[in-house]
Amino acid sequence: MAEKREISNHYTAMATAWINNREELRHLKDATIVYLESDHRKKSKRRKVFGLCEKVQDKNKWAIPADFTITFYKPHMELLSEWQQEIVVYHELLHVGFSGEDEPMSTVPHDMEDFRKVIDMFGAHWDEDDADLLNKDLLGEIDRRTAWLEESENSKGGRSNDAG
Ligand SMILES: [Zn+2]
Repeated sequence: MAEKREISNHYTAMATAWINNREELRHLKDATIVYLESDHRKKSKRRKVFGLCEKVQDKNKWAIPADFTITFYKPHMELLSEWQQEIVVYHELLHVGFSGEDEPMSTVPHDMEDFRKVIDMFGAHWDEDDADLLNKDLLGEIDRRTAWLEESENSKGGRSNDAG
């Protein structure tokens, strides 16, 4: 069965909240990132893949007018708590290599099996069942609600045209 990907408001809102709230992601405000949800059960080295960050090649930008796509794999993301999903989104945003200047864009590889930043913030076992997550309060309810509002405002305006 062919993989199907769709634009996801759910992950767009989560990512927007992260970018608006974290200093180390603020530069991504100037990047165009399309957030997608896939129905594929993607695996790598027999492990479940939750998300994938990809740079959009110049030759494909006529079809996907964005610098990067981040795809979240629904059959695997569904197994996670909402907090764990937030961490996957954060993890994938750390893969976006975008300086906001004239440097070429690229995806950023992990500095460990995960990003050290993620491990320091949430613990090494954040993706396990019943994980005891550190720093659960990093994103407050209010911030997330704001992101949702901004997203629905945007979807009335020009940006939705870019997204299809
Ligand atoms: Zn990764």
